[in-house]
Amino acid sequence: MDQAEKRKQLIELDKKHFIHPTSSLKHQQEHGAPFIFTEGNGVYLTDITGHRVLEAMSSLWNVNVGYGRAELAEAARDQMKKLAFTNCFSSMSNEPAIKLAAKLANLAPGHLNAVFFTSGGSEANDTAYKLARYYWKLKGKPQKTKIIARKKGYHGVNIGATSATGILSFQEMAISPAPDFLHVGPFSAAELKKLIETEGADTIAAFIAEPIQGAGGVNIASDGYFQEVRTICDRNDILFIADEVITGFGRTGKMFALEHERVVPDMMLLAKGITSGYIPLGAVVLSDAIQKELTSGTDGVLLHGYTYSGHAAACAVALKNIEIIERENLVENSRIMGAKMLEGFRNLQQEVNIVGEVRGLGLIGAMEIIHPATKLRFPVPVAPEVSKEAAKRGLMVRTVVFEGMDTIVFAPPLIIKAHEVEELLHILQQSLIAVQKKVMAQK
Ligand code: PMP
Repeated sequence: MDQAEKRKQLIELDKKHFIHPTSSLKHQQEHGAPFIFTEGNGVYLTDITGHRVLEAMSSLWNVNVGYGRAELAEAARDQMKKLAFTNCFSSMSNEPAIKLAAKLANLAPGHLNAVFFTSGGSEANDTAYKLARYYWKLKGKPQKTKIIARKKGYHGVNIGATSATGILSFQEMAISPAPDFLHVGPFSAAELKKLIETEGADTIAAFIAEPIQGAGGVNIASDGYFQEVRTICDRNDILFIADEVITGFGRTGKMFALEHERVVPDMMLLAKGITSGYIPLGAVVLSDAIQKELTSGTDGVLLHGYTYSGHAAACAVALKNIEIIERENLVENSRIMGAKMLEGFRNLQQEVNIVGEVRGLGLIGAMEIIHPATKLRFPVPVAPEVSKEAAKRGLMVRTVVFEGMDTIVFAPPLIIKAHEVEELLHILQQSLIAVQKKVMAQK
């Protein structure tokens, strides 16, 4: 069977049997899967037809060390041959989980020294909300239950994480969100302060924020915002949870993004880059104070745990992945290549009229698309057209078009080299110019 025939058959099976996550299922039925990837190497992916693309999103902001790392496969194989899995409930443990917990404690700033493992970011979020409430219960304040999150924030799709997510369409899909979740504007510390006053600090368990909002369109708070947030939380006895699921492990040019602001949260949520997507894993890193409270609880039993909390093979892969990030100085590379990417975006902003605001920090960035005459958004989003043109030319990007946005977002693997950043920028430029011609001809 040739590849074209094989592709056709796979697409038929995909339509019949595979419910894709976070997707237009109607589009899947009408158009089929445009890409069936078969191989990855460095920053490149190749699909079943042999079409190769520079993958500028690290898939879902997670393949930080790039594709095709045999070392990670070997770490998984070696651990699986010895002991793939044993649960960590009660007094059971395993070597990779212990070593990874210690490594994360060592990497995490300040008083963040204890780790609870999950299988991903959504589970890390739900875990954090429950632990925050439990912490206050143990401290004799069970009425502190509310979680304040930010508008346009994204925290995952479990019922708690969906309820914290501040993108309305996700909330609406879930129909009835969990109680006790509130949302504030993403960049105003004053608004947070006011909401705490209105609700009463004695009813609030925690405030949660992504240091840079990812799925919400790569939105970056102004300098000083998180320091103010930290102070407000401290003054009101509110735990500050940083969702570093996207921003952790070097994405922004620091190991963790809040280091830019020298702010230490009470809980730090990790996933994605912890294994660079080679195997599912997430983590909640807790402060000494929270650990102390949990361990000295009334009967000392924590009734929260996933089958896969502390999965031996997943933890072994994470350890090797972190070793690669450190050995290859990928955090520093993210800072340097990120600056180059952003400079390229600024040049495109000068050159191409449909490019509006550009922003970024390390290897996470965004570009707004605007109408050249009005400087406002087009009535129908144009970023998806740019994405299609880019894919044809060998570049994968992602777009954010909910709630009236028209944004292209970028998060290439942290291994990207200067000539690959140039390739990314060149294809992007060609794609923007092609779309600009098309949309302006239609006016
Ligand atoms: N938090 C943030 C900031 C995320 O970006 C994501 C995933 N995009 C999640 C949580 C949820 O993680 P997962 O998909 O692994 O459950």
